[in-house]
Amino acid sequence: MSSSAFARRTSPRRGFSLPDDCLFCRLYKEGDHVGATDGFVAIKDINPKADAHLLVIPERHVDTFREVGDFSADESQRMLAFVADTAKQAGLDDYRVVVNVGEGGGQTIFHLHWHVLGGRLHGIPG
Ligand code: AMP
Ligand code: ZN
Repeated sequence: MSSSAFARRTSPRRGFSLPDDCLFCRLYKEGDHVGATDGFVAIKDINPKADAHLLVIPERHVDTFREVGDFSADESQRMLAFVADTAKQAGLDDYRVVVNVGEGGGQTIFHLHWHVLGGRLHGIPG
């Protein structure tokens, strides 16, 4: 185990999920997916903030977008392509892509995810 993984397991901090006890790690494995590709899934947000509100979740657990550099160039490229594909599959031409970063940025689930919001907004995600 890497020292950072060890630190995550032994000293959880407020606002950080343990991967072993992470809602989005669980939903990646057993959620109701509206789309999937190798290493990434899309689900419907349980509390939609727009007419269409989907979440793209990578299999790889990183707490926030700050750690996006942990993804390889290939994974990053495929993740972004899947975000665009998820919007397209939902029939969205025009939409917003939002990532909340950290508690101050409105993040509530500490497993990197991408909000895809189409149609009328009902609020700000997060
Ligand atoms: P954020 O605030 O950016 O961390 O976004 C977390 C999002 O996850 C919020 O928009 C929540 O509505 C959504 N959410 C929380 N629990 C679930 C769940 N069980 N299934 C689907 N979406 C969820
Ligand atoms: Zn996770």
